[in-house]
Amino acid sequence: MKNLIRLSSPVLLTLVWGGSALAQNMDGCQASVTVQPGDTLGTIAKRELGSSAAYTNIVAATNRNAATDSSFATISNPNVIEPGQKLCVAIGMSPPRVVERTKAPAPPLNSGNTTNITFLQINDVYEMTPVGGQGGVARLATLDKELTARNPNTFSVLSGDLFSPSALGTAKVDGERLAGKQMVAAMNAFDLDFATLGNHEFDIKEEQFLERIKESETQWFVSNAFKKDGTPFDNISQNLIFSVTDNAGQDVTVGMFGVMLDSNPADYVSYTDPFEAAGAHINVLKDNVDILIGVTHLSMAQDMKLAGMYPDIDLIMGGHEHENAIEYVGGTPITKADANARTAYIIDLTYDHGSDSVTIKPTLKQVTADIPDDPVVASVVNFWLEQAFEGFRAQGFEPTKRVTNVTDALDGTEASVRNKTTVLTQIIADSMLSNASGADIALYNGGSIRIDDTIAPGPITEYDVIRILPFGGAIITVDMTGSMLQRTLDQGVKNSGIGSYLHTAGVSGTLGNWSVNGTALDSGGTYTVAINDFLLTGYEQNLEFLKAEGNPDINQKATHDDLRKALITELQKKYGSE
Ligand SMILES: [Zn+2]
Repeated sequence: MKNLIRLSSPVLLTLVWGGSALAQNMDGCQASVTVQPGDTLGTIAKRELGSSAAYTNIVAATNRNAATDSSFATISNPNVIEPGQKLCVAIGMSPPRVVERTKAPAPPLNSGNTTNITFLQINDVYEMTPVGGQGGVARLATLDKELTARNPNTFSVLSGDLFSPSALGTAKVDGERLAGKQMVAAMNAFDLDFATLGNHEFDIKEEQFLERIKESETQWFVSNAFKKDGTPFDNISQNLIFSVTDNAGQDVTVGMFGVMLDSNPADYVSYTDPFEAAGAHINVLKDNVDILIGVTHLSMAQDMKLAGMYPDIDLIMGGHEHENAIEYVGGTPITKADANARTAYIIDLTYDHGSDSVTIKPTLKQVTADIPDDPVVASVVNFWLEQAFEGFRAQGFEPTKRVTNVTDALDGTEASVRNKTTVLTQIIADSMLSNASGADIALYNGGSIRIDDTIAPGPITEYDVIRILPFGGAIITVDMTGSMLQRTLDQGVKNSGIGSYLHTAGVSGTLGNWSVNGTALDSGGTYTVAINDFLLTGYEQNLEFLKAEGNPDINQKATHDDLRKALITELQKKYGSE
């Protein structure tokens, strides 16, 4: 099936490594540092590159520079460095990956001295199928074909976040969670050309991440995220260059770098500063390309700063924010589409060979039922959907079953659920209290909610509930000492901004001043608390003290339903059952 899809595409893709002229620029240092008393290579690497293991990059780069510049130290033993020695801090840049793409030229492409290139930009795509009637990879494929028919030099780009979070990714197929396998399969069928990494790529385990990249037929690139030791991931380049040829035989060369924010510090990843990394790659690319593009996964404020710092950038295709947006900084457009391909940006670039300038016209396109499914991509999507649904059925859910019709917007975005109460976070807390008979209060961590999206008012299915709480888990009642409860509630507030921020039912008050069902918390008392089983494992950040095993302040009493079952019941209680 995959071969059929590839045959239908006019894209020929070959990868070669950059020539020596480009490679030479790469020997430059990101920064030079002078060794201070007390420094070791490990502490310098940690400080400059975020990982002590990256000291090997510093040794290699310093020795390489010492060969031609005697102001640099020569390091023969990494355990011995002297104060005053000058070292080269390099991010271990490899030569740019040159992607040769030849698309069949078509007459309307070229008029006189110009060449047209089109990008189809998507970002933050976790769902293969439409959400709330919008999006869907099969529709994107049709759109891509239409654009390619109009301009053969059309390329699809994902500005980060694909492998996670998604409910389907948590489904177990053949005993293993899909963990983004379904998204890679869908994007391979769609024939996604280029992608940079987003923070959610690192939600999954290292083996899963490496496997996904290996399975992917997309050209991935990122300029500021590396393995823990500071070296690049296999099959991910740090930037890329490709050329297109128009029907008049004129070439245009495009260079791309990719930078991302470090909001998901997984233990197998190290980051360098996105602005410094962008600067280093822009320096390498700018003299070798006609058009310079940043594909980013940053906040809009960071994207605007980036565009302001480096006027050489012609276009920034960004992600991370889930709402569509466009900003211009000094004439450079920064585009973001809506999450889950509810919209896509179609960006037409016209390169003028005479003036060496580029005109950029972005158009936001709604991805709706007006665009028919591409049948081949739809069949791939449906295959994986059915695989995942079988996994959920094995756990006792019927994903397609309608739960109720909600009349509120259910805000499950990370920015909200890790910082404040929303209608959704409160319904979940209430559902735990309803489900766990005899409990005084309920509490759970905001990180249990993984949808990172808002469900609009309207019908909601069991699959939507799985999207909200993909990992589920049992509700447990425990007897907890008042002092332990006080400590837990205080810490829950202090965890604002991260997944261990706590949501509660039956509790009111603020740090150090809590009430349980209207009465001041008695630190000498005992309370019956409904809590999600994950917190009792002691694995939650800053809440390790909730580990139940051998804990004199926590006494497990009873196990109740899965969180998702409780939520289904609570939604029906609040909005009516159908
Ligand atoms: Zn993101």
